[in-house]
Amino acid sequence: MNPLQMVDLKSQYQRIKPEIDGAIQGVIDSCQFVKGAEVKAFEQELAQYLKVKHAIACGNGTDALQVAIMALGLKPGDEVITTDFTFIATVEVIALLGLKPVLADINPATFNIDIESVKRAITPRTKAIVPVHLFGQCADMEPLLQLAEKYGLYIVEDTAQGLGAEYRFSDGTVRKAGTIGTIGCTSFFPSKNLGCYGDGGALFTNDDQLAEQIRCLTNHGMKVRYHHDMIGVNSRLDTIQAAILRVKLPHLDEYNRARRTAAGKYNAALSEISDIETPATAAFTNHIFHQYTLKVKNGRRNALKRHLDEQGIPNMIYYPIPLHQQKAFAPYVTENDKFPISEAICDEVLSLPMHTELSDEQIERITAAVKAFFS
Ligand SMILES: *Cc1c(COP(=O)(O)O)cnc(C)c1O
Repeated sequence: MNPLQMVDLKSQYQRIKPEIDGAIQGVIDSCQFVKGAEVKAFEQELAQYLKVKHAIACGNGTDALQVAIMALGLKPGDEVITTDFTFIATVEVIALLGLKPVLADINPATFNIDIESVKRAITPRTKAIVPVHLFGQCADMEPLLQLAEKYGLYIVEDTAQGLGAEYRFSDGTVRKAGTIGTIGCTSFFPSKNLGCYGDGGALFTNDDQLAEQIRCLTNHGMKVRYHHDMIGVNSRLDTIQAAILRVKLPHLDEYNRARRTAAGKYNAALSEISDIETPATAAFTNHIFHQYTLKVKNGRRNALKRHLDEQGIPNMIYYPIPLHQQKAFAPYVTENDKFPISEAICDEVLSLPMHTELSDEQIERITAAVKAFFS
């Protein structure tokens, strides 16, 4: 049996090694390390996969979020609403740009941004909402789009954990995560559902003007070389990473299916345990299980974690501290801001190994260790 790991990148690589090695060697042979043809080709293939007009590659997912918010032309002091329960990158960029991050509480079943909390957070200064498709299932986009329409807000989707997931509107229309709001942002960090072999990211939009603005911003604010129209950043996807992603993109649906299958097996083994809630999937989305995250009830999470650590079963707490309690965010939080759900959730969540290479034997070993704790 392969060693248990939260993410097994090595076994996945072994299955596509000849193609990956060939793609990397091809870039080295061409010596077009930056802005090579592979980058354009990958952008086109990704746009086609997502059924979105424009995909623009960049250096990483955090840059994608930063550039997205820069492209919207917000002014210092403008407010951007996002979730209290996410990876820090989502809110970091809002603060870095001199905007005010306003946190909303989450839905206890899906861990995604709670619509009523968003409503309460809207003020005349609100300019954008940044929902995160956390752990691999879509936030509830339809009511967010309605709020955006009503109050004239932009929506920037953080789909770093949701690439390939789908959202179903009440009229039956299905769209891919990241192509629903004004701009979508993703990450190709190695452990994401579509991961490269270093850092990478991309932005998506159906708006031609925004796409041009984003391209310009990621390239030092220039459209014509050495003519700088705006203050931009240097955020590019390396050609080698693009070549790797071109090999992996055709496998993304199969990778997401493998994750879903593994989640189904976990659910079957663990759903009978009364102190555990297996992950819930909202009716309007599928779940591509970037993480497989249990809720452990009755204050038993930390003891279960210790037990798994002792048994050599990898596990992680995503995330241990809600953003409003992070030291870095103290300036943005007041006494009146209450986040009871995300606070409670941070004490309950425990993620088990989740990747494309989990064998039945491995799942059996992991779930047996969980069951042993509760028996
Ligand atoms: C990974 C991640 C990011 C940041 O992506 P990087 O490529 O690591 O910069 C942003 N948001 C979420 C929700 C993530 O999981």
